[in-house]
Order: sequence, then C-alpha cells, then structure tokens
Amino acid sequence: MRVLVLGGDGYLGWPTALHLSDKGHEVAVLDNYARRKYDVELEAESLVPIEDLPTRIAAWEEVSGKKIALFEGDLCDAEFTYSAVRDFAPDSIVHFAEQRSAPYSMIDRDHAVYTQQNNVVGNLNLLYAIAEINPDIHLVKLGTMGEYGTPNIDIEEGWLEVEHNGRKDRMLYPKKPGSFYHLSKVHDSHNIEFACRIWDLRATDLNQGVVYGQQTAQTALDPRLATRFDYDAVFGTVLNRFVIQAVLGQPLTVYGKGGQTRGLIDVRDTVECIRLAVENPADRGEFRVFNQMTESYSVAQIAEIVANCFPGPVQIENLDNPRVEQPEHYYNVIHTGLVELGLQPHLLSDTLIESMFDIVGANKHRVNDDRMRPTVRWRGAIKS
Ligand code: NAD
Repeated sequence: MRVLVLGGDGYLGWPTALHLSDKGHEVAVLDNYARRKYDVELEAESLVPIEDLPTRIAAWEEVSGKKIALFEGDLCDAEFTYSAVRDFAPDSIVHFAEQRSAPYSMIDRDHAVYTQQNNVVGNLNLLYAIAEINPDIHLVKLGTMGEYGTPNIDIEEGWLEVEHNGRKDRMLYPKKPGSFYHLSKVHDSHNIEFACRIWDLRATDLNQGVVYGQQTAQTALDPRLATRFDYDAVFGTVLNRFVIQAVLGQPLTVYGKGGQTRGLIDVRDTVECIRLAVENPADRGEFRVFNQMTESYSVAQIAEIVANCFPGPVQIENLDNPRVEQPEHYYNVIHTGLVELGLQPHLLSDTLIESMFDIVGANKHRVNDDRMRPTVRWRGAIKS
C-alpha cells in the first residue's frame, strides 16, 4: 500500500515510517519541523541525538535499500497539504502531525491558541484534501486516551450504547479531557466523525495511551535511524521521564500522591498497531475507534516499577500537582479492537526498562537539569 505518514520526523512518526517501509509498503513522510523548534524554545533537545530528516531517509535507504519520499511543509497550509496528497496518491494517511504536549498547551494563551489552531486547522485541511482528491483514502488519526479523561464508568472504544427515557442510541463516547491539547484532539475526533457521516470518508481514530521506550527493530539498526527521546517536564512522557531521572540519580517526581491511573503502550506496539490499522482499513462511511493501549498503572506504580528495576538507590518525591486532575479514580478501559486484528502486546514486565537505562546512561551528559521540574501550572492564568 502507499502510506503517507504526517509528522514523520517525530518520536512516533519516524519509527512508524520505518516499520511500514520494512513491511513492504511504499512510504512518504511529511513534516514542518515544528517539534525541533519547540526544542529551541524550551532549551531541551532530544536526549538521544537525532539526524535531520533527509539524513535519516538517506541512512534508511543505505541500510535497507528502500526509499522514503519526503514532503516538507505545514498541514495548516492547505495548498501544500493538497499538493502532497495529490502527488503521493496514498491509499492510507497516518496523521501524527500535531502539537502533542499537554503542558505546552497550558503555558499561556498563545500556546493554547497555537495548539488548537495547529491541530484543528491542520486536521480540517486534511479532511477536505481527502474528500476532494480521493475520498477512498483511509485516514488513520492519532488521538489520545486523555480525550476520555477519567469517567466513573468503563471506557468503551469510542462509542457508547445509551438508553435514556426508554429510548436507545449509539452515541460518541462522552469526553472529559484535561488540557487544551487534549481538547484539540476531541475537536479533531468530532470533525472526523462528521466527515465520515457527511462525505462517506473512512477513518480510524486511535486513542493512544502514554508511549514509552525508544527503540524499535528498525531504529536500532543504525545510530542515524534513532528516534527522539524527550526527558523534560514539558515533552517527556511519564515512564520515559522516570527512567531518565533514575539514571541521573535524581528523585522520580510524582505529581501529588500518584493515584492518577493512565493507559500505557510500548513504542514497538505503537508502530505495529498502525500497521494493523493501515492493512485493515475502516469501511467507507465508518468512523472506527480503537483504544491503543495495552495496560494501565497509576503514576505511583510506574515510579515503583522503575525504582525496582534500577540497579541502585532511587528516591521518589511527591510534588504539588501542577495539573488539575482527579487524584484517585475508577479506570477500566476496553481495548480489544487491536488485539482482535492481531496485536501481540509487549508488556512492561518484558524487560524493556533495563534496556532503556543503557540508552540514557550513554547520553546523560546532554540533559539540561533546569528542564526536569514542572513549571507549567494548569491554574497559571488565574490571579490569586
Ligand atoms: P512529536 O511532537 O514527536 O511528533 C509530531 C510531529 O508532527 C513533529 O515532528 C512535528 O514537527 C510535526 N508537526 C506538528 N505540527 C505540524 C503541522 N502543522 N504540519 C506538519 N507537521 C507538523 O509527537 P509524538 O510523540 O510522535 O506524537 C505523535 C502523535 O501521537 C501526536 O498526535 C500525539 O498527540 C499522539 N500521541 C502521542 C503519545 C505519546 O506518548 N508520545 C501518546 C498519545 C498520543
């Protein structure tokens, strides 16, 4: 199949492009390098050095003999988006290309507006491009488990059977997201469901859990193929951040008591989930939703798991929670759709954490210590 990977320079987009190329698909990547600009703004680069995208693509061709096409530009530029879709003529588009940090979206008004504009407008341009150029294209869109929040009922895969005053309907699952970033994903989901309903598009919305890990079978083949690894309090995701803090000899910073439970997924499973979604497209008119996570743990449990794996002393420090979230809650997520398509999950017990300690140890001189503690507060806009 021909697959266009949007956000192909990012943490997940790059290893996904390699995985799909390795499995015999014709792959193109598209990116505007916004993520590299946030590095400069936040003064924290990827812990693992990464090459620029053209160098990575050339390295992949050298290692595998396979070519990846490149489109450099912004999804918010409709003309550019249309020309990329027209030129590459994909069967499937995998959309990772959004601002993806909750704290970044909560820095101030400018960052909230930027996040929602970038994400919602880019996605809307893409929906129009698909509808006008080839409505048969399957859109595989990355959403997040954070769209649901933490409701006091089971979290279904996107849809909920509701009975109200004696009548029944199948509704989009109600969302209670926890940041302006997560809200942008909810807006995207609604726009995509609407486009499937009115234009008969086909889409899979993947509500992904927090991703951990840094290597896949393909990125490990050559250092030039490495994907980024964020450690700072704005972009570093929870398990990755704890691993890095353990290696640096710093306390693992748990927000509040750490009773918040989150769905997790290994980066090797992320790339495989995308392959499964691409190779088993949704039907025309179908808005299909999968919860892309494999297990869930509370933040305190994640800290304990990392501390127990680390071959040395580790302290855990409970900080005042900078976010506004339920300190403890019910959390039961249905996530059978991808397993039914054939996913065989890597679970946290499968020794991945130990291998991450070496990667971090080799690069720890690159850490800017000032960027490890949270500075963005959810109630920052409120004058006390
Ligand atoms: P990332 O920031 O590393 O990658 C996103 C890429 O998209 C970057 O390379 C960026 O430059 C590019 N991009 C952003 N806006 C763009 C635009 N307007 N036009 C073109 N390119 C643009 O993020 P990631 O961690 O790889 O996440 C990818 C997707 O997966 C995101 O949509 C994110 O919401 C979702 N997701 C990630 C996680 C996680 O733990 N990393 C968890 C759940 C969902």
